[in-house]
Amino acid sequence: MNDKILLSSSNFYEDFFSLDNINLFESQLEFHLKKDKKIVALNSGTSAVHLALILSGVEEDDIVLCQSATFSASVNPVVYQRAIPVFIDSEIENWNMCPVALEEAIENLLSKGKRPKAIIVVHLYGMPAKIKEICAIAKKHKITLIEDAAEALGSSYKGQECGTFGSFGILSFNVNKIITTSGGGALVCKTDEEKKKAIFLATQARDYAPHYQHSQIGYNYRMSNVLAGIGREQMEVLDEHVSFRRRMHQFYKELFKNVNGITVFEESSQEYFSNHWLSCILIDAKITGFTREKLRLQLEKDNIESRPLWKPMHLQPVFKDCDYYGSNIAETLFEKGLCLPSGSNLTDDDRSRISESIKKLL
Ligand SMILES: *Cc1c(COP(=O)(O)O)cnc(C)c1O
Repeated sequence: MNDKILLSSSNFYEDFFSLDNINLFESQLEFHLKKDKKIVALNSGTSAVHLALILSGVEEDDIVLCQSATFSASVNPVVYQRAIPVFIDSEIENWNMCPVALEEAIENLLSKGKRPKAIIVVHLYGMPAKIKEICAIAKKHKITLIEDAAEALGSSYKGQECGTFGSFGILSFNVNKIITTSGGGALVCKTDEEKKKAIFLATQARDYAPHYQHSQIGYNYRMSNVLAGIGREQMEVLDEHVSFRRRMHQFYKELFKNVNGITVFEESSQEYFSNHWLSCILIDAKITGFTREKLRLQLEKDNIESRPLWKPMHLQPVFKDCDYYGSNIAETLFEKGLCLPSGSNLTDDDRSRISESIKKLL
């Protein structure tokens, strides 16, 4: 038969436009995560959070318990659904959702007759959350657990990959993440049925018909096949990137080894394996005599980028009216914490510049 004449094709690069790359990239991710997960490649981690909420049945006025210490993209989709984020403090060891504050929030909400619809836990900076405890609480109260592993591809808890513990997981391949497709993300789900539903929603929710027919609102969230091709290449270097970032962590451990008042963020026990996406430190200004802001400005003067930790969501102007459970751990981390250069392309020269700049203050 002759080649098919299409209605409207701008297709000069047939190979790129077939769906092969997407399918193969998804298979690679499924293989990496194990646990028989189904992956849907999307155009961002944010869309993955959004679809996870829709598939969890989160609707208007539903309560979603969110980790306060995170990037806003873990929370914004809750508002896209007109649901209500309620923020939970961090614990001091892994800096992620505090199981005690989470349980307190659930008990309190239940006592008011409000049943939270979902929990979004985050593995910040690649550090696994206290996932065993969080899973147990979600299970006990029968609340859907969504795991934002956007920063944690390659991290694991007791050998199980981050992103595979919850009912849904989220990955991101944005430019700054551990691997990148320049922009992209993925939804991790459990069943083929969920995967089919996610793809349906991500491709404009088109019903089965010769014409365009819709009985639901859809989204344009699917990953482009071209970018999935880049993702396939990136999967080949994931392990390398993780070891590089972990070496940067070792570099900072060494650099601050004998410095009182500065602690390098690290795994609280051997059960946790962090990809150390970003290396972070806490500065106790009472001991060091300088604040994290002073160090940040010193580095900036020497043309080196660093950044305070994520400002907690419950302190963000846009979420100022939301409820919050916990004490001031996330806030204290924000005040004392600094993320240091951690990229997978840093050279010995870069490392010398970083250590010389920091040593000016020590
Ligand atoms: C990057 C990131 C996201 C969003 O991913 P995008 O691909 O940029 O949309 C969500 N949550 C966290 C914690 C992130 O760091």
